Amino acid sequence: MNRKHTIAHSLVALLIGSMVALGLDTARLERQSVDLLIEGGITLTMNAAGQVFSDGLVAIRGDRIVAVGDRRELASRFSAARVIDARGAAVMPGLINGHTHAAMSLFRGIADDLVLQEWLTRYIFPAEAKNVTREFVYWGTLLACWEMIRGGTTTFVDMYYYESSVAKAVAQAGLRAILAETILDLPSPDSRTPQLALQYTERFVAQWRGHPLIIPAIGPHAPYTNSTVTLRRVNRLAERLRIPIVMHVAETETEVRDITRRYGARPIRYLDEIGLLSPRLIAAHVVHVDEREIALLGRHHVGVIHNPQSNMKLASGIAPVPRMIRAGVAVGLGTDGAASNNTLDMFEAMKTTALLHKVATGDPRVLNAHQALALATIGGARALHLEKEIGSLEPGKRADVIVVGLDAPHQIPLYDVESQLVYASRASDVRTVIINGRVVMRDGNLLTLDTAAIRIKANEFRDKVVKSLKAK
Ligand SMILES: [Zn+2]
Repeated sequence: MNRKHTIAHSLVALLIGSMVALGLDTARLERQSVDLLIEGGITLTMNAAGQVFSDGLVAIRGDRIVAVGDRRELASRFSAARVIDARGAAVMPGLINGHTHAAMSLFRGIADDLVLQEWLTRYIFPAEAKNVTREFVYWGTLLACWEMIRGGTTTFVDMYYYESSVAKAVAQAGLRAILAETILDLPSPDSRTPQLALQYTERFVAQWRGHPLIIPAIGPHAPYTNSTVTLRRVNRLAERLRIPIVMHVAETETEVRDITRRYGARPIRYLDEIGLLSPRLIAAHVVHVDEREIALLGRHHVGVIHNPQSNMKLASGIAPVPRMIRAGVAVGLGTDGAASNNTLDMFEAMKTTALLHKVATGDPRVLNAHQALALATIGGARALHLEKEIGSLEPGKRADVIVVGLDAPHQIPLYDVESQLVYASRASDVRTVIINGRVVMRDGNLLTLDTAAIRIKANEFRDKVVKSLKAK
């Protein structure tokens, strides 16, 4: 062995030694294998520190996020079966639609510009009585899932009838959802009495409990459509089955007047008296509440879902969202059903929320873009009591991630990504959607549903609905 070789060997040994010293050991050089990398996008984590990486990376293994951070720091640590190039786009947690009635997509535009009570009793309830079947619910939910995935929604909360058929459609679409079977004192499309609806709920929960994407739940429609006896039964069943309760609460002034006359207390206080306020409850609307009621919602960890467009369209009023947030209430956003919105577009919901509360308070600093994004992501997760699993991009959480293009004419030029997402972006700007680690939409193409078949079926149901409303 000549001297040159010895020096070369010593240099190599020195180099390896210093690499070990720097932490660049062989384990580090051996890349961790993951299933999916999303690289190069402006990555909004929505974590507690509000971290944004201008050249980010999200690593996903199975259904979980394993790393989020700066691409230049992390890229060498991972090798992936698939890589999504997100350069020029935003990468963020999937949006959470905290309140809707998915199958009502088939009633989109059936009756607009009416007062809630008239809208419900003259159009929605009769149209539902004549048309809502298992098949209607299944196809209507598929249509809603198509629209929601297309617009970057990865989790939603539903309240409707034939919830087993809703679950079948949701599982097929690959969306995450809390699905609540409706309980009403009136005869409903799937149950003649509330007792039968409670029995349906038990069967539904038994069938879907433990599904990786679906949390079965119970949905007493509202305090004014259920007796106290029914609401107490609902509460007991929810406690026994350990399931969430989804309910419309304090939506209109008429409701507050009726409940106060009937029970001597405003809706939130009445629900407190009969034991309904708890972390189990996800309350939609909560428009008409006083300070005492806001404190009660906070104390009982009730999740509140704000539906600004439905509230505006039905002229229900303006929920005191900034005051609820200040009081520590967990608030998320929802679209409500397509019959009272008329879309399931969470980008519209974010923008409307930001604008509505500025004009309501006369203060343009109220509800800024970051807060609107938070309501649709981590805030919604808190309101659903799922903040440990979803709502932000953090290691250990479920991989619910969306890639939103930023190069459409209405998004150019880019100064501030949060401003652009809330005030300038649209559902159609969403490119790619990942739910529970699975790519369900890639570059605008839905991978889980037959959209042509859904379009045909939806139009067939529309014709049936029109005929049914003409027949006496
Ligand atoms: Zn609703």
